[in-house]
Amino acid sequence: MSTAIVVGAGIGGVTAAVALQRCGWQVTVLERAPELGEVGAGISVWPSAVAVMEELGVKGVEKAAVASRPAGMRRPDGRWVVRAADFGVEIPVMIHRARLHDLITGEFGPGITVRTGYAVETITQDDAGVTINDELSADLVVAADGIRSLVRQSLYPEYAGPQYAGYTAYRGIADVPVDDGGGETWGRGQRFGFARLIDGRIYWYATGNQPAGQGGDHASVSRAFGDWHDPIPAILAGTPPEAVLQNDIHDLPVPLVPFVRGRVVLVGDAAHAMTPNLGRGACSAIEDAGALARHLTGSGPLSTALAAYDAERRPATTKLVKLSRRVGRLGQVEGRVGGAIRDGLLGVGGKLMSLRRRK
Ligand SMILES: Cc1cc2nc3c(=O)[nH]c(=O)nc-3n(C[C@H](O)[C@H](O)[C@H](O)COP(=O)(O)OP(=O)(O)OC[C@H]3O[C@@H](n4cnc5c(N)ncnc54)[C@H](O)[C@@H]3O)c2cc1C
Repeated sequence: MSTAIVVGAGIGGVTAAVALQRCGWQVTVLERAPELGEVGAGISVWPSAVAVMEELGVKGVEKAAVASRPAGMRRPDGRWVVRAADFGVEIPVMIHRARLHDLITGEFGPGITVRTGYAVETITQDDAGVTINDELSADLVVAADGIRSLVRQSLYPEYAGPQYAGYTAYRGIADVPVDDGGGETWGRGQRFGFARLIDGRIYWYATGNQPAGQGGDHASVSRAFGDWHDPIPAILAGTPPEAVLQNDIHDLPVPLVPFVRGRVVLVGDAAHAMTPNLGRGACSAIEDAGALARHLTGSGPLSTALAAYDAERRPATTKLVKLSRRVGRLGQVEGRVGGAIRDGLLGVGGKLMSLRRRK
């Protein structure tokens, strides 16, 4: 039986493990954290990723999720700039990250062994296989160890690595009754978005331009957004301060080429970390796992399957990384004039799209 080691048990790693299990591989998942799990935040899951999870036999995503009402974009005073319905965009579902992670790991069968508290430090390979920490060997290693991937650093020492996008993000979950379809509000160098989870709680996120490493907490986000339109102040007041997450936003703007080195394949943020502006990073990791399963199902050599994976996933994710950066730059515009032009153009664009759709 073919064997694989998956490094990292984030959404990308656990989905890759399920995908390999489905292809009949014996899988070992190595995770350096002491326990499996995900952070306390929501996540948008796009239809393409839901379809991959169905293909892989991950059940219950639709039941645990809410179809986000694509409300659109407002100004901080609550006036609408554009309604998403004008663009006729497809709609992601919103789900709690921990629930999504549980649904995926719920599909782990006897073919998957998990070792938590295990940090990968070295990786070597030859024609016969790949070895981790001079201790564990397999036919294939799937590097799903995130944006600061040690596997990527070992195999691509010349690669530029993560870059700061210029803004930080806050996330939280509020237990407040809110009668509002959600959506995003764009200010000057600041954004706030929220959506309902299946249990009625509100998942929210916010961004702010600042130097990397400055930090921030519930107090800083409340100061920045406390006078924005309703129900934003109530959402912030209904969020436990200690549960606010803050992350400086980094991505991999220089495309990694290729996503495969010998018997090692990179998936998720390790290969193509993107800014969260499209809500597609984890979805792309899920789609990577689906593509890997599809290409490994054939009877050809491993190198052919991995090359086909690279040819499919690298162009698709390279586009998303670029687009996501651009949307972030637009959303984080700071100047009054630039912001007014942006809002005006979006408003006009929405009206034109709406007219075209009606025709
Ligand atoms: C604010 C914010 C909002 C977002 N919103 C969305 C959204 O709505 N929708 C969406 O699709 N995406 C979203 N994303 C992106 C998404 O979170 C990531 O793309 C996704 O979590 C990446 O998953 P991953 O498994 O590739 O990496 P990670 O989640 O980073 O997992 C990597 C795992 O590897 C482990 N690890 C690392 N190094 C080692 C080692 N040496 N040995 C063993 N284990 C190791 C880590 O402990 C971790 O568990 C958002 C991101 C941010 C920051």
